[in-house]
Amino acid sequence: MCPRVQRGNSLHPAAMFNPLLRAALSTLAPAGPGGKLSIAIFHRVHAQPDPLFPDEPDRQRFDEVCRWLKTWFQVLPLDEAVRALRAGRLPARALCITFDDGYADNHDHAMPVLQAHGLSGTFFIATGFINGGRMWNDTVVETMRRCSQDQLNVDGLGLEGLQMLELNTLEQRRQALHRVLNAAKYLPPARRSEVVGALAQRADVNLPNDLMMTTAQVQAMAAGGMVLGAHTVNHPILAGLDEATARDELVTSRSQLQQWLQRDVTLFAYPNGKPGQDYLPRDVALAQSLGFEAAVSTCPGANGQGAPMYELRRFTPWDRQRWRYGTRLALNLRH
Ligand SMILES: [Zn+2]
Repeated sequence: MCPRVQRGNSLHPAAMFNPLLRAALSTLAPAGPGGKLSIAIFHRVHAQPDPLFPDEPDRQRFDEVCRWLKTWFQVLPLDEAVRALRAGRLPARALCITFDDGYADNHDHAMPVLQAHGLSGTFFIATGFINGGRMWNDTVVETMRRCSQDQLNVDGLGLEGLQMLELNTLEQRRQALHRVLNAAKYLPPARRSEVVGALAQRADVNLPNDLMMTTAQVQAMAAGGMVLGAHTVNHPILAGLDEATARDELVTSRSQLQQWLQRDVTLFAYPNGKPGQDYLPRDVALAQSLGFEAAVSTCPGANGQGAPMYELRRFTPWDRQRWRYGTRLALNLRH
């Protein structure tokens, strides 16, 4: 082989990216007490790209992301990482892969991809939707996806500021669904169910009941080497609940999971996860007093020595290019 070509290849910026990024990550997140834990957050891995959510990974893209992550980081399960962080014994470039909510595609697509890469992920399950349930946001998404009308009149449904939704093009459908999600997001849960139910009825659509995992699939995840964590029963905004109801959401989701899995469940993820907005200091105290080992938010950043163990930060880049994705993960370590 021509040595000049070989040298040329090894100096190519694309070939240099992985070693350079690993070196930067090792400086920003060294082993031991100065370590920093990155926690990536995902929700779904679709069989095929979802035109309504072009930034959400499909199986092929998730496979690519897993290959990047294991090249750059030392990927470990969150329960292990939490103990290592507490003890000041994180490996260099430590990263966990987490999923929220309990979608069936986590079992069908995310787990096999993780297993093929020899990785473990941590999956937070909203237990009330297992076995045929559907989260309110999916009622909205699937209504907008399946509605056969070009326009949907939502006047009088209780979606503030919305009257007529244009559904002619894919872009219009995407806009419409985000407008409905925003209008419904902070309605009281019972009212919200009513409103999105009425929306689906007016659109005259048949909605799927197999979006979330079954009990058997949750059990298969644990048997397949994945870690399962609690994510409440009904996925409420905890900040909007009284303390007894919030406590019940945490306790019941954990005991349900423990009953299904016949093992301890030690991790918790706050629904929606924005501090001060979606959960309160009260809920942080609850997670701690109920004996969870750690809890995760959706606040971006990484977690160093002394990080609040009941508000661990999570972050996932959305970029498609490898260098952007990797650089953003490195920048996330500055927090
Ligand atoms: Zn969630």
